[in-house]
Amino acid sequence: MDRKLLRLVFLLMILFVKKFILMPIPQETTQPEEAELVDETTKKPDSRPVKYYKYNYNDSSPDGPKSWPGMCTTGVKQSPISITPGQYLRKTSNPTINITFDSANFKNPKTVKVINNGHGATYTFIYDDNSTVPKISGGILGKEVYEFASFHMHWPCEHSFILTDSCALEVHLVHFNSKYKTLDEAKGKPDGLAVIALLYVSTYTSELTTLPYIPMIKNIIEPNTEYDEIDPLKIFNYHDVIHLKVAPRIVSYKGSLTTPGCSETVSWLIFVTPHLVLESDMRQLKELKDPYNNKVLRNNRPVQPLNGRSVYLYVPYN
Ligand SMILES: [Zn+2]
Repeated sequence: MDRKLLRLVFLLMILFVKKFILMPIPQETTQPEEAELVDETTKKPDSRPVKYYKYNYNDSSPDGPKSWPGMCTTGVKQSPISITPGQYLRKTSNPTINITFDSANFKNPKTVKVINNGHGATYTFIYDDNSTVPKISGGILGKEVYEFASFHMHWPCEHSFILTDSCALEVHLVHFNSKYKTLDEAKGKPDGLAVIALLYVSTYTSELTTLPYIPMIKNIIEPNTEYDEIDPLKIFNYHDVIHLKVAPRIVSYKGSLTTPGCSETVSWLIFVTPHLVLESDMRQLKELKDPYNNKVLRNNRPVQPLNGRSVYLYVPYN
């Protein structure tokens, strides 16, 4: 064979090996990484509607409480309100409140689900058997029965009492009228919702234990993240959240949701005797991040005008 031809064939062989055998290897390893990166950057903004993020608690912001949309600015029965002993309260003629706390409250759910919605954390319980969902009635609710739906927190407190300055945490247990099919349907109805509010003063005392739902917070620091607790040793129930040992003193009035759209469909039941929360629990809550990558240092709506509404005090005994 001609020497020149032999060299040409050899050269072509080298080129062939380089192009089709060696080169594809690095290409294959880089392609999936690029694909993942693109996916990561497009995933976040798309996965949750803007309305969840569009409001904030900064008074000087265009999305602050004074500019919240709809009923938040046009409503006349808004929440939270300021409550002082002189201002209330028509005590009920029948002083014993008839809120039902039965064994369902002690039933552990199968799963506790928590989500960081960009403004805080919302917890829901998933039960094996739907008949064990906790229910409340009586007092301002009359004979209507309200089913437990979810709970979340505000810090510092939203409802203002004499102890306002030191009230670090307000827990809202949201219930919906069982004559409606879902929480969403009930939200739009005048008798749709009943919210129990628990108040907490913070303390450094070492004798107190952490609130049962605080350990889950570390799993949802980033906005729009969810976590399911399924470990039976870490699962907690409705009673663990409401932790009542004695019948509560309850302040009740008709108001609204304290987040947009502020619909005026809430019967409020505020348990007025404050509980204690560890300062370290409060620090953990304030690690939660909002969609702008800031820590959620506060998420309490300012108090709203009473506008002549009646506020009632329900006391357990004469
Ligand atoms: Zn709330």
